[in-house]
Amino acid sequence: MKNNFKKILNILACPKCKGDLELKDNWFVCYQCKLKYPIKNEIPILLIEEAKELKSDER
Ligand SMILES: [Zn+2]
Repeated sequence: MKNNFKKILNILACPKCKGDLELKDNWFVCYQCKLKYPIKNEIPILLIEEAKELKSDER
């Protein structure tokens, strides 16, 4: 599953800044926006409304 996500990482972009995302645990993380996007049922939810703010120790 994670290998599949690594393949699509290249074509995924943050919906807010269109920047690169990084896979971290079960989240896609945008370090520019300090947001993380959930993966639900193995589907990345790249919606700003669904994103959570990164905690300081995750930055
Ligand atoms: Zn972003």
